[in-house]
Amino acid sequence: VHDVLFDNLRFYPMTAGPEADGGAADPAASPAAAAGTCFAVTDGRFSAVGETVPASRRVDLGGRAVLPGFIDCHTHLVYAGDRRVEHARRRAGASYEEIAAAGGGILSTVRAVRAASEDELVDESLPRAAALLREGVTTLEIKSGYGLDLESELKMLRAARRIGELLPLTVRTTFLGAHTVPAGRDRADYLAEVVDVMLPAVAAEGLADAVDIFVESIAFGLDDLRTLAAAASRQGLPLRVHAEQLSSQGATALAAELGALSCDHLEYASPADVAAMAAAGTVAVLLPGAYYFLREQRPPPVAELRSAGVPMAVASDVNPGSSPIVSLLTNLHMAGVLFGLGPAEALAGVTQHAAMALGLGEDRGRIAQGLRADFTVWDLDDPGVLLYQLGGVTPAQVYVGGVPA
Ligand SMILES: [Zn+2]
Repeated sequence: VHDVLFDNLRFYPMTAGPEADGGAADPAASPAAAAGTCFAVTDGRFSAVGETVPASRRVDLGGRAVLPGFIDCHTHLVYAGDRRVEHARRRAGASYEEIAAAGGGILSTVRAVRAASEDELVDESLPRAAALLREGVTTLEIKSGYGLDLESELKMLRAARRIGELLPLTVRTTFLGAHTVPAGRDRADYLAEVVDVMLPAVAAEGLADAVDIFVESIAFGLDDLRTLAAAASRQGLPLRVHAEQLSSQGATALAAELGALSCDHLEYASPADVAAMAAAGTVAVLLPGAYYFLREQRPPPVAELRSAGVPMAVASDVNPGSSPIVSLLTNLHMAGVLFGLGPAEALAGVTQHAAMALGLGEDRGRIAQGLRADFTVWDLDDPGVLLYQLGGVTPAQVYVGGVPA
């Protein structure tokens, strides 16, 4: 006997993928509803899908639409302070150099994070995570990378883990010590510290589920990517990469060859990068919030990714400098308007493909037998509305492991 039978509903399993439809799906399509009108949950997982089965309890969802819980697979949600003054200066015409000279930029967030206690980081960041949960986010990735020294990186990751204990959602943490080079440090010397000191300490405390690096002319290079990938592999941690955001570096192709779970940003990804991702099964994580907030002009090559069958995820990239947009639904909408993703594509980007970017593709992100029963309930005739209307629509209910959040 199953625990709970959820009945009288329309569910969108999000099980079709670029592989299933050969990359030739109609980009205008909304997600397809399943034929059945019920599913069962036992011990927090979907135990029957689409068939009426005996259960201890029955929940009538009133004919509403059900989607898998959303997965925000790329955020820098733990930080202290904000950069609103810098933002206003930039809107008023200040250059990047002028802002840096005035004490702004990423290193100003590093100063604020180093000065904050772990409790203060949790207090400042928890409302952001709670806001995402209210939109239906049941799995949230959070990166370090504003500490840039051993104690501050550990503090950020501990704060991120605590958010997952305080809220009914899953937090997956990513060690991003290689976010940027701290002020006054030599790049190679700092990367050696990341690899030889920080990463082993992070892994020993079980504080990271993955390792990430920002490859860019203003940050780290391809040799650094190779070095970090080898170190991550020694710790048994998967690799993710900030790649091709501001210029073409070849990081995407290299990361795909190195077995990275995802390459993220990709505005300057080349045809060779796309081919390498397709060959390796790497997920392309698109971050329209940063593109919007920085008023970038070059979108990622969505048509090429689509025709190559590369799974595309969509994430909020919540961070104080380039995407202070604490809304996955807004990013979902922008993925349609700014990047040209269709409704089914963009919704797969915050469910099954986002799960794949976290290495959780066989655990969550779809409504299928055996997967974790994280799901959201909506008063919508068609979830494709979320790509059309911005604002004013939130889930009626959010379930985590089959239990109301
Ligand atoms: Zn990022």
